[in-house]
Amino acid sequence: MSASPNTPLGAESKSTEPAISKFWSPLVHSLSPYVPGEQVLNGQLIKLNTNESPYPPSARVLAAIQHALGEDGARLRLYPDPTSRSVREAAAELHGLSSDQIFVGNGSDEVLAFVFQTLLNQPAKGPVYFPDISYSFYPSYCRLYGVAHKTLALNEAFEIPLEALDEEVAAVIFPNPNAPTGKALAQARIEAFVRSHPETLVVVDEAYVDFGAESCVPLINRYSNLLVTQSLSKSRALAGMRIGLAFGQVGLIEALVRAKDSFNSYPIDQLAQAAATAALEDQAWLKDSVGRIAADRDWLTSSLQQMGFQVLPSKANFVFGRYLPPGGKADPRLTGPALYQALKENGILVRQFNRPRIEDFLRITVGSKSQTRAVVEALRRILAGD
Ligand SMILES: *Cc1c(COP(=O)(O)O)cnc(C)c1O
Repeated sequence: MSASPNTPLGAESKSTEPAISKFWSPLVHSLSPYVPGEQVLNGQLIKLNTNESPYPPSARVLAAIQHALGEDGARLRLYPDPTSRSVREAAAELHGLSSDQIFVGNGSDEVLAFVFQTLLNQPAKGPVYFPDISYSFYPSYCRLYGVAHKTLALNEAFEIPLEALDEEVAAVIFPNPNAPTGKALAQARIEAFVRSHPETLVVVDEAYVDFGAESCVPLINRYSNLLVTQSLSKSRALAGMRIGLAFGQVGLIEALVRAKDSFNSYPIDQLAQAAATAALEDQAWLKDSVGRIAADRDWLTSSLQQMGFQVLPSKANFVFGRYLPPGGKADPRLTGPALYQALKENGILVRQFNRPRIEDFLRITVGSKSQTRAVVEALRRILAGD
């Protein structure tokens, strides 16, 4: 564990032996949980490892939280609305849907957990497909819920080869833009797949869609085999509030509601519901924030390219690139793990995945202007050998 780049700096476990107990169920032995990017306790580090927003949320969000607290916090005595109606109505208004076509969860990770449990778990129909290089939470859900899965290998250009799945399969799930590559598929390509595979449930994870990709939410009324998930964590700067959404026709949404109501009636607390509603009502804030992040992303991309990085064209709030100057490299000081470590020694935290084909890539969140400049300057120093 201690050698992993993703070990939290503030890790609590003191022993190197994994803690186990004879009381574990067989399921617990089979789990291998998702490891998120570390949340540092040391505020000195520049944190570009979990795709959080560098900006505080809309001022309307703060006002709504204050209002929801009430004078002396007395409203916290009461359970929140179990159906998150105000959040669903705000999302429905924004997307021209009805509120029963929307599900709200405690982060889109929870929404996705319900999706795997209730819709992608189809032993009689076959496995769910997802890209081999993708959100690494998907295989964790599969292990938790015993969902059979197969992977679709990204092509040479690191693109999801949707068309390679020519027959009907039970289900497909992929992020759009994909994570950690940042590459997006056009809505028309996804729609063509959804239309030609009416027996296949297609789940599009749009955690990063606001940063420049085309959403599939406008297709919801046309296709009963399409479900879209979104998150307020990244583009709306509410990772700390834990709000995720799903959009689909009412039958699909009902599956998620049934699972939620069999698990936790109140997954979204009062303050989070107020915050999410206000955030969804402030499109002007979103447009401004996303515009700044997209401009800084493009600057970061070209700065890295000038230094000899290959950077995939990103539609997200992060870039994914590796040091690959013409003529190749072979400098062991400049591999993915080495650059990750060197940046960390310079006080900058990014993400690196020890997985085939992408071990030399760094995933760098687009931070504030000064953070983005700092990572470029640090990489220049590292490449120059100082
Ligand atoms: C961040 C992320 C999520 C989860 O977002 P939360 O709403 O914070 O749970 C889901 N999918 C992908 C691809 C992500 O990167």
